[in-house]
Amino acid sequence: MSFDSLGLAPALLRALSEAGYEKPTPIQAAAIPEVLAGHDLMAAAQTGTGKTAAFSLPLLHRLAGEVRGESRRPIRALILTPTRELAAQVQENLRDYGKYVRLSSTVIFGGVGMGNQLQALRRGVDIVVATPGRLIDHMQQRSVDLSKVDVLVLDEADRMLDMGFLPALKRILAAVPRQRQTLLFSATFAPEIKALAQQFMREPREVSTTPANTVANTVTHVVHPVDAANKRELLLHILAQDSRRQTLVFSRTKHGADKLVRHLEQAGIRAAAIHGNKSQNARTRALSDFKTGRITVLVATDIAARGIDIDQLPVVINFDLPMVAEDYVHRIGRTGRAGAEGQAISLVSHDESGLLRDIGRLLKTDLSIRNVEGYEPSTPLRLDAGAPRPKQQQRQPRSQQGGGQGRPGAGGSRQGGNGGGRPPSHRPHGHSAAGTGENTGSHKRRRQRRGPATNKA
Ligand code: AMP
Repeated sequence: MSFDSLGLAPALLRALSEAGYEKPTPIQAAAIPEVLAGHDLMAAAQTGTGKTAAFSLPLLHRLAGEVRGESRRPIRALILTPTRELAAQVQENLRDYGKYVRLSSTVIFGGVGMGNQLQALRRGVDIVVATPGRLIDHMQQRSVDLSKVDVLVLDEADRMLDMGFLPALKRILAAVPRQRQTLLFSATFAPEIKALAQQFMREPREVSTTPANTVANTVTHVVHPVDAANKRELLLHILAQDSRRQTLVFSRTKHGADKLVRHLEQAGIRAAAIHGNKSQNARTRALSDFKTGRITVLVATDIAARGIDIDQLPVVINFDLPMVAEDYVHRIGRTGRAGAEGQAISLVSHDESGLLRDIGRLLKTDLSIRNVEGYEPSTPLRLDAGAPRPKQQQRQPRSQQGGGQGRPGAGGSRQGGNGGGRPPSHRPHGHSAAGTGENTGSHKRRRQRRGPATNKA
């Protein structure tokens, strides 16, 4: 299968060949023909599978074939994403793929002034990539006209729902024409997603190439048991093994991310944090410094990391485990992209044993548990049914965690061995309240899900 055989316009093929794309990824091969044929589409694809091109290419093809003569062009495609970083990333991809077609695009998200966005909208653009909150702001002040939208894309729809954007999505869906093509990309097809599709899509075709909640099989998973108090030193030890290597480090909390950056800087490592309390400018700068190599370590929280797309990111380190196992999959999606080799290293303390067990069950893959000499934990990990989890989580009913029902001895890996036991059963991945609130306990998360209509990304 080649891009050529998919029937894409020569101008797009040229851009793809310059980008070094030789053949479509499975999700592209499955989705592009459906979109070109004009169908609504529900695609199960997570980040790293090439999903952005899977909707961008047929969208550019379609719009380029119908370039209108008007001097002020109406918005004909609207792409919604959960986070600013993902919005920026999608637009960057659109620009790359569409560099030989005469279409304009702009990106709209919160945290920055309205001025440039207003100007771009006034000039007229063919494609808008937006986060829901700021788009609603523009709708309220009538600076955006969505009445000519032909194609609507909901990217990472599951994440948008997790972040409480459902009311905002409904308002936006009410503002675009009923006669349109709708493309929905989501890592999972949880019941909420299906309900959304049923309400707002017309006989959608379904494509799915990666089973939900799996990670690229080019990624190896390594777990280092360590006492919580020694994690920072262990991180420095790991980073010292290759000081030039770009490393993305995940922290569960914003505060923790900042503290970690200070610690790394004190040790002479060029690092920056990216999380929801940082100004958009600081987030953009941190990401671009990381991409250009000015900093070698980027410390991110789960939400902020969405949309980070860095070529050849060889390693991702979980300084602490995410509260919700699904977030591990999202984190790890940053490495091993498009077939490259990747490594996921997790520093896990005794109190995170329960979270590790959940991840092992979800992934259905071997997590290799290895002590690092000199950093052996004083209390070993426990992967049985009574395994502890950080305090915040203990207050939360299991049904709220996206966690499986405990089964004695089930899942996870054996400590000390390479490749622990395979999880016996795939727990239902009811999307549950597997929220993504940064630095939050369950309470804030639940509040977010009910969320205000103008929730900001
Ligand atoms: P995405 O899932 O859209 O975030 O894409 C993941 C990565 O795969 C990005 O770095 C893309 O540039 C890259 N990519 C997408 N499609 C292809 C392809 N057909 N061949 C090679 N790389 C690709």
